[in-house]
Amino acid sequence: SGPVIIVGAGHGGYQIAASLRQAGFAERICLINDEPHLPYQRPPLSKAYIKGSAGPESLMFRPEKFYQDQSIELIAGRAASIDRAARKVHLASGETLDYWHLVLATGARNRLLDLPNANLPDVKYLRILDDSEALRAIMPSKTRAVIIGAGFIGLEFAATARIKGLEVDVLELAPRVMARAVTAEVSEYFQARHREAGIRIHLGVQATSIEAEAGKVTGVSLSDGRHLPADLVVVGVGVLPNIELAAEAGLPVAAGIIVDEYLSTADPNISAIGDCALFASPRFGGSLRLESVQNATDQARCLAAKLTGDKKPYDSHPWFWSDQGDDKLQIAGLTTGYDGVVLRGDPAKKAFSAFCYHGDKLLGIESINRAGDHMFGRRLQAMDRSITPEQAADESFDLKSALG
Ligand code: FAD
Repeated sequence: SGPVIIVGAGHGGYQIAASLRQAGFAERICLINDEPHLPYQRPPLSKAYIKGSAGPESLMFRPEKFYQDQSIELIAGRAASIDRAARKVHLASGETLDYWHLVLATGARNRLLDLPNANLPDVKYLRILDDSEALRAIMPSKTRAVIIGAGFIGLEFAATARIKGLEVDVLELAPRVMARAVTAEVSEYFQARHREAGIRIHLGVQATSIEAEAGKVTGVSLSDGRHLPADLVVVGVGVLPNIELAAEAGLPVAAGIIVDEYLSTADPNISAIGDCALFASPRFGGSLRLESVQNATDQARCLAAKLTGDKKPYDSHPWFWSDQGDDKLQIAGLTTGYDGVVLRGDPAKKAFSAFCYHGDKLLGIESINRAGDHMFGRRLQAMDRSITPEQAADESFDLKSALG
């Protein structure tokens, strides 16, 4: 073995450094960090952090001392290129690092809105701590926000902005919110809840222009001809995986850096984890790229184990959460490809779960304010078990009996 160089100090990068040391890895570990902060948690950026007044230190995984104590070298800078033949990473600063194994944990970046005025200061995105800080700083002086994109991040921000007293409009091209990620039942629940809170949701439309006067946003025009006044625009139209470093080094890429079930690229000395990795999944068949904390941290743990002699394919069960206003959505499993949905609980009581099936096979569970169902789903999946749609729908069926 020898030095492990990790590009990207987000969820995946931090976790593999920590897990390598935990597993007793004694060689050099360098974590290349292109953000001006200690490694931190991203989910609160669109949730509690933007709502509250806590400082950036509240988001950090660990204080600086941890990295010193663990001999994890945090290197401020950007990896600019990889010399695979010489096993070297060149940083933008000109520094060069030798590796035994290189981990690409470069994450993803925001897909930018391709409209005039989209680069004005009142048009914001949410990916990094600095984005969240900037939004938190300008929100008190804003009165009307238009949010482009009704994915998780757009809706989380919308709920917070509304709580903060802003007028909020959300634009979504799809016919329902979070359409790529959740069932129609769950979309409808959240649409209703956000509308109750006073958020206007416009479906099947897109922004065609952003109007501004003297460099300040005044409104957004929609594809259906309407015009919405606004002094703040927040864009959440998805992300692009950071694959360029790998591609320029001649590694195969597609909608992510292509890795096998051991998270290895075509070069056995280079792996990729987290949002940037398009991984082969024997469990789900084909290739997957997931954007979640669970995926980034479990892949980091899997790769750390491999690099310290415990090689197993990556086979964790996906799970995810999103907090929107007072509602907590939790997803266990991957619900894509479902052909039947059974509800347990009652949307009218603001607590239910959508059990998603393909035939009789339970693919996953989307729970709203039903943490017990979510934990049940994760435990059931870990045991590779299922319950029937009839059992799921029957509130008198004791879920625990399926785990015994
Ligand atoms: P990241 O955490 O994005 O880290 C990648 C790092 O690599 C970044 O710091 C980037 O700047 C850096 N980098 C890129 N290229 C280079 C280079 N060449 N040199 C050096 N550094 C480089 N997931 C959930 O499961 N639940 C949630 O509720 C949730 N909420 C979210 C809310 C927000 C606002 C955002 C943005 C994400 C949220 N996610 C959530 C998704 C989750 O944060 C990501 O899936 C996770 O951070 C992925 O980890 P990663 O290590 O792959 O990438």
